[in-house]
Amino acid sequence: MVLPHEPEFQQAYNELVSALEDSTLFTEKPEYKKVIPVVSVPERIIQFRVAWENDNGDVEVNNGYRVQFNSALGPYKGGLRFHPSVNLSILKFLGFEQIFKNALTGLSMGGGKGGCDFNPKGRTDSEIRRFCVAFMRQLARYIGSDTDVPAGDIGVGGREVGFMFGAYKQMQNNWSGILTGKGLSWGGSLIRPEATGYGVVYYVEKMIEKATNGKESFKGKRVAISGSGNVAQYAALKVIELGSTVVSLSDSKGCIISQTGITPEQIKAIAEAKVQFKTLEQIIKDTPTLFSGSNEVQYIAGVRPWTHCGQVDVALPSATQNEVSGEEAKALVEAGCKFIAEGSNMGSTKEAIDVFEANRSKSVWYAPGKAANCGGVAVSGLEMAQNSQRVTWSAEEVDQKLKNIMYTCFENCYSTAVKYSAEKDAEDLPSLLKGANISGFIKVADA
Ligand code: GLU
Repeated sequence: MVLPHEPEFQQAYNELVSALEDSTLFTEKPEYKKVIPVVSVPERIIQFRVAWENDNGDVEVNNGYRVQFNSALGPYKGGLRFHPSVNLSILKFLGFEQIFKNALTGLSMGGGKGGCDFNPKGRTDSEIRRFCVAFMRQLARYIGSDTDVPAGDIGVGGREVGFMFGAYKQMQNNWSGILTGKGLSWGGSLIRPEATGYGVVYYVEKMIEKATNGKESFKGKRVAISGSGNVAQYAALKVIELGSTVVSLSDSKGCIISQTGITPEQIKAIAEAKVQFKTLEQIIKDTPTLFSGSNEVQYIAGVRPWTHCGQVDVALPSATQNEVSGEEAKALVEAGCKFIAEGSNMGSTKEAIDVFEANRSKSVWYAPGKAANCGGVAVSGLEMAQNSQRVTWSAEEVDQKLKNIMYTCFENCYSTAVKYSAEKDAEDLPSLLKGANISGFIKVADA
């Protein structure tokens, strides 16, 4: 069989299958092996042309996609990514990860992903609106609150979801929860913007507690974070609230380092300026007083934070896929980093994962994105539930549900890893990589 070259999808597939094969699952329950080919092929892929008009009156054309990967557990659910790198390999990897991630939330959601090779950077508000309307014009006929419920991902935030939701509503003459990540006044859920970042932190809270027998917490820890979008921002704010120091953030052009800690005011300023697609370098230049004196940060162009952050206890890659190389993983371990949890999807390369897993005997503990960042889609699931019931839950209620989901997800990953670990692993911290993959897989396979 001639298969297309899909390196990202291949990588995500290999991660799952090698985690399953390197456990006792198939020896104990060989029937599970038969499920692998079934879950490895998307149920349906939709590919469409998005033709739209820019501010000069010219027509631009982009490639749009929706990968409806697996609906065993519920309607397809997963974000839309608008980024020039988007192609079918990336969306298949994201959709594949989403199946098992959604299973790990314990909610009834299948897995899907979509997006477009459109680059929102440098576009005006009206160009983004016209693009989103044109994109939804193609996508609308394939989605529905019980069929497929997209949300945001890289390049798609509240504004884009709003433009698409409005377009759908006008086209279909129908208000239903066909997208999550909506604004609060038109069907969104409280805590949805915070959910992915907060969720990662809640997951790591449990890792720290378990690894140290309850002796340690986020208090006093040094935390390296990459990215500066929605996931990184809220992860940073939450760890600061819990008493940690955030030593780094980054964007595609470089990183900022602060040994004394990036402040909540700086994070808020970054969040506001990022909506205009400003780079970290520009933001620092535009607001010099905020980033000087005792709150001075160092900007380093063209690098990721991992080899520049100095001694850290926790690393939260929260930018994009393959953002930690094998060498960077070694540098983190040498810098004393004990806990690595991905806010991004497939944030670590295979080489990086090998380094982290090989150091489990030295109490280095790695959590893959499909477990650690499932809080975002979990609150999307809660948004769907609120839409169906026509109710709005309070922030406290949603936050408490999110915490419970993340804590249960951690316990499932932990106990599954212990249950299916080969003997050789028995002394080390159990592999959350295996626990997450096996636990998510079993739920989908059983369904
Ligand atoms: N894009 C997010 C993820 O990777 C959220 C998806 C959703 O809320 O549907 O999980």
